[in-house]
Amino acid sequence: MRFNPKARLDTSRTSGGGGRGGFGGGGGGARIPIPGGKAGGGIGTVIVLLVFFLITQCTGVGPQVLGDGGSSSSIGTGTFGGMQGAEGGETGDFGACKTGEDANNDENCALVALENSMTGYWDSQPDLAGRFQPEQSVHVFTDQVQTGGCGSASSSVGPFYCPADQTIYLDPTFFDSIFEQLGGQDTTFVRAYVLAHEYGHHIQNLLGTMGQVRTQQGPDSDAVRLELQADCYAGMWTAAAENDGFVEDITDQDITEGIDAAKTVGDDHIQSRATGRVDTSSFTHGSSEQRIAWFRKGMTTDSIADCDTFKARDLDNP
Ligand SMILES: [Zn+2]
Repeated sequence: MRFNPKARLDTSRTSGGGGRGGFGGGGGGARIPIPGGKAGGGIGTVIVLLVFFLITQCTGVGPQVLGDGGSSSSIGTGTFGGMQGAEGGETGDFGACKTGEDANNDENCALVALENSMTGYWDSQPDLAGRFQPEQSVHVFTDQVQTGGCGSASSSVGPFYCPADQTIYLDPTFFDSIFEQLGGQDTTFVRAYVLAHEYGHHIQNLLGTMGQVRTQQGPDSDAVRLELQADCYAGMWTAAAENDGFVEDITDQDITEGIDAAKTVGDDHIQSRATGRVDTSSFTHGSSEQRIAWFRKGMTTDSIADCDTFKARDLDNP
């Protein structure tokens, strides 16, 4: 996966990242234990849930702005504080991200380019006409983070979307764990897939889909349907991203590796309480195959109606 070197990056919705010099480093912070090791055959087994998502406790809470000073505390090593429209203001590690060329050379900047591409895609999506607004922020943190309405979270929970502040929270050590699981592969598209999935949750938030979630557990539960729909939305972006001005190319190999990553997070979401405490008894169990099937389904369509997992009778066959 490569970015258009001439693309101009907008860092106004990317924040944090001060605690670590980019995604590729060894990094401190909590490692997420993943069973299975490097053997490719470990894929397919249900693996520790890494991506973490807050639903019920945040519904009904109005969006809160993570503006300058808004919730800018220093927890762990992260640098907090909004960057929205902050020309010359606090820019964390993203301030050096000017062009697609930077994105090709720096994982933090790649995150900016990906965010810009996704925002551009959904902003022009006809089904969302009049309803779209970008997420408040993609916030990179290490160790621990205080959200604007979804409690606090630690590194061990992995990436998640908080509906209350419309912010995607990413802990880079999550990717280290995935790449370890995949046997050392380190591709930008894996990050793209994860971000696109979380962006999918933002779209669901805008559309009110999250409020429809009633059942939290079980293979046909609303919670699983919500996850599979986010994968489908990720597929929609993937198919449209190439040559969108930010993304120069996405190869079949990229997609294969992204799907491998999807397998490693087969059952990916942890229901959490507002406190950020993880309750293992409320794990949901979607299958890897289903995630891939819905991601691929998304790649075949540009209509969000085709990603309606809530109406699907057979989640195995979108
Ligand atoms: Zn999710």
